[in-house]
Amino acid sequence: MVEENINLRNQVLEACRGLAAYGLGSGIGGHISLRYPNEPFFYMHVFERTFEEMQLEDIILFDFDGKAVSSDRSPSQGIEFHHCIYKQREDIQAIVHSHGFWITAQAAFARPPRIFNNVSTVFYERTALSRNDDFASISESLGSDDVAIVIPWHGAITLGTTLGEAVSRHVVFDYTARMDVTLPTSAPTMPHDQCSSLRQLVERAGYFDETWELVKRKARTVCNSCKEVS
Ligand SMILES: [Zn+2]
Repeated sequence: MVEENINLRNQVLEACRGLAAYGLGSGIGGHISLRYPNEPFFYMHVFERTFEEMQLEDIILFDFDGKAVSSDRSPSQGIEFHHCIYKQREDIQAIVHSHGFWITAQAAFARPPRIFNNVSTVFYERTALSRNDDFASISESLGSDDVAIVIPWHGAITLGTTLGEAVSRHVVFDYTARMDVTLPTSAPTMPHDQCSSLRQLVERAGYFDETWELVKRKARTVCNSCKEVS
């Protein structure tokens, strides 16, 4: 058994509120989890709250069978893919899944998004496509270098080596999906060489670190009076 870690729970809470501020809450559904470092457990929120409504008591510890530790509250049915991914990819520390409008619209194409702009290159050749939304088998589609998964006709998942990385990638995935959905099929996608070089530049520039800081600032606008978010 592991000790309670308030800092990790607060990070998940902050991520919930930040994604809500970006309009990625989309009602009941969607989840954010954070691995308990070096242990077969992770923190995730309960099912019956929206991202906007989440409070610290709604962030609960789960084991790698998807069972709540010391709580009788229920997670989403989709919790299975979290522990499957954590078992399969030891580098992954955090997972974000949503049914954001543009993300879900893009998922209806049943393919990775087309790349039209610099920050979206992080997903270039690193977005998996799951066969379906059978939660237990979603991780099987994941390559060793992938950072996102499109679940056809459902939504998307982003991954990170930190929670900030998974969350900021989710925000950028939403932007990427919106471009894919709204630009016509005749729009030229970014050439392969440019995708590769721009991806390295964007990652070196710290864009995703700064995006996480921005998400946290926006989180405070969702719940100014919440003491848990420092
Ligand atoms: Zn879902």
